[in-house]
Amino acid sequence: MQLGISSFAEETSTTSEEITADINNESTEKVKVAPNLNLKDVAPAPEPVTVKPKEKFNNETVIEPKDKKEIIDENPESQSKEDDYPTASAVKEKPEREKLVILGAEVPPGTSTRLAWSPEVSISGLALPTPVLVINGAKPGPTLCLTGAIHGDELNGIEVVRRVMYDISPDELNGIIIGIPIVNLQGFQRGSRYLSDRRDLNRYFPGEANGSLASRIANSLFTEVISHCNYLIDIHTGSLRRTNLPQIRANMNNPNIAKFVQGFDKIAVVHHSGNPGMLRTAANNAGIISVTMELGESLRIQENQIDAGTHSVNSLLDKFEMYPRVFIWGEPKPAYYQSTWIRVESGGILFSKMGLGDKVSIGDVLGSVTDPITNQSTDLESPIKGYIIGMAINQVVMPGFAAFHIGIESNQEDMTKTEEDAPVPTTSNGELDSE
Ligand SMILES: [Zn+2]
Repeated sequence: MQLGISSFAEETSTTSEEITADINNESTEKVKVAPNLNLKDVAPAPEPVTVKPKEKFNNETVIEPKDKKEIIDENPESQSKEDDYPTASAVKEKPEREKLVILGAEVPPGTSTRLAWSPEVSISGLALPTPVLVINGAKPGPTLCLTGAIHGDELNGIEVVRRVMYDISPDELNGIIIGIPIVNLQGFQRGSRYLSDRRDLNRYFPGEANGSLASRIANSLFTEVISHCNYLIDIHTGSLRRTNLPQIRANMNNPNIAKFVQGFDKIAVVHHSGNPGMLRTAANNAGIISVTMELGESLRIQENQIDAGTHSVNSLLDKFEMYPRVFIWGEPKPAYYQSTWIRVESGGILFSKMGLGDKVSIGDVLGSVTDPITNQSTDLESPIKGYIIGMAINQVVMPGFAAFHIGIESNQEDMTKTEEDAPVPTTSNGELDSE
């Protein structure tokens, strides 16, 4: 294995121009075959393949899998059957498979490898290559991408990507899985949500080649990696000292996305159409079916949250026939929620009386806020019936702080109704609990 890696490193020491030219020309002569590495083995970090940012993301530059058309079908009539999720069997009939060439390397079917993506945005001698794990299954099927730590302080997703990917045998996989455990290496190394220029990377997708640092990184990631995906699960945690019950956030107004989330087992699904600049919004706009997975809180490794996220991704792989396992199913379907935030009315120290997943009724005390100077304590009562799907951890809060995210049980059809029809006014959580 050592030999494989070092020879690959030597072979890929071409200039970035050459590699870019190769990809664009589809003349694969200079595209090297990536070494077949068992991802379960311990191995040195991969050598980076630096790829120049493209002028602008557009579909022509995307290496589009042939099966994409069959997966993303805009005709709602063909989506009418209850169990009609786009499974791997739907694309198994394809006689030919397109070569998987990613980050300047060809990954043959039935192999897995570690590559590295390096956006040209730093002092070149100090470039920080970002590892990208790729498993190209022996059999054809869709391409699923998993991204973690777009916010550098959101750690649970990093371990979910590792657990999912290191448990896959390429021989038994239908399709391709591409995993980037730590997208925002700059933030990760500083324990920060943000890039080194204090921008939030998840507000700059799909990015621009000539834009700000964040915009260039977004553009490079989107063009070089995300454009290969049919499906994307972008894994996050709560931000600003809030924690989330394991949940999928998805734009349920899009019938393809609504079908996709049916593949997740035992997880809450919250409708949120997504804000401009988010990876999932940009990916959806480019025809990639994408959702955000929220797991717990930032700056922590939480095993129960990681277990839940891993289980949920594995259930999806099973249901979509990408990686069938003998699965012990829990709840057969995801649970759908509309949601609203409960804000505190007075400032002070917040102590919660509820935990994630707790059921609440109207009038239940969710927590209390105590003014440390006047000693006045105010209870925070739930105005609605539902479940705690997200909450602030105990901290000092100011009036107006969104402390509890309550999910109201719903069904797939009702959850995208207009706000007037919703059982309670729902709030956009974009500013409150940012993905
Ligand atoms: Zn996040």
